[in-house]
Amino acid sequence: KELSKSVEEKEIMNIFKEKIPAIFNLAEAQFVDSPDHGSTQDMSIFTIPAGKKMLYFAIKDSGRVAKAKMMVMVNQLELFLKRAELYNELQELAITDGLTGIYVRRYFLERLKEEQSRSKQNNLCVSLLLIDADHFKAYNDTYGHIVGDVVLREVTRILKASLRQIDLCARYGGEEFCIMLPETSKEKAYLVAERIRLNVDHTQIKACNESFHCTISIGVSSYPEDAEQISSLIDKADKALYIAKAKGRNRSCAFGIKC
Ligand code: GH3
Ligand code: MG
Ligand code: MG
Repeated sequence: KELSKSVEEKEIMNIFKEKIPAIFNLAEAQFVDSPDHGSTQDMSIFTIPAGKKMLYFAIKDSGRVAKAKMMVMVNQLELFLKRAELYNELQELAITDGLTGIYVRRYFLERLKEEQSRSKQNNLCVSLLLIDADHFKAYNDTYGHIVGDVVLREVTRILKASLRQIDLCARYGGEEFCIMLPETSKEKAYLVAERIRLNVDHTQIKACNESFHCTISIGVSSYPEDAEQISSLIDKADKALYIAKAKGRNRSCAFGIKC
């Protein structure tokens, strides 16, 4: 019952470590790094699979511990660790886009909101890029959806490779992506946008033994320069993106700046 209170591996292990000595009236019980621990220190070792690794639980056993009862406990621990692993995998799946493997829009917006609050507190800026693949419908119509999907995955790879660790990239929907650039002014964000755009423009994408060329358009907006609220920040990036499209595509446009 106690083990069911958490879905964090570390917490479950702690609960186990605390409860077992009380149940079996033991002076010593702990997780150890290796199964050899017992041979030198007169300990009994129980091995518990946890994901890809093994856990080793050592107890000072002076013959009082009922082995069968202890095995029931160990099996319970294994089950609850598995439950935690599945729960975390599910959480990850819920925020990951199936085609591209990057985050989904909902998760991105939550993180952007957090980042905006943090920026407000610390007097920092944060920039947003909205990205849309150019004439993407034509890819599907000409080469089929499978090629379209490969192109979207390749664009994703280029976006991710063009960013810093602290930046966040997500699929906004369809052939649209969004990127959050923490602690980045609009001028710098525009340079990042141009770098990403050129990286895509200069890549020959291979799919089904053919080579494809894809371009993207990017709209840039920044907090606090363009907007305070997230909805308004998105709206400004969207307006800039619209201008980039109207001006001929394959270009970046920052809100309020001539492009
Ligand atoms: P624009 O330059 O104005 O953005 O033109 P566009 O053709 O990219 O814009 P439009 O919104 O007309 O079409 C978007 C296309 O993106 C239509 C849709 O079939 C395609 N698309 C959206 N999601 C996916 C997907 O997951 N896979 C594939 N293959 N295509 C997708
Ligand atoms: Mg679109
Ligand atoms: Mg498009």
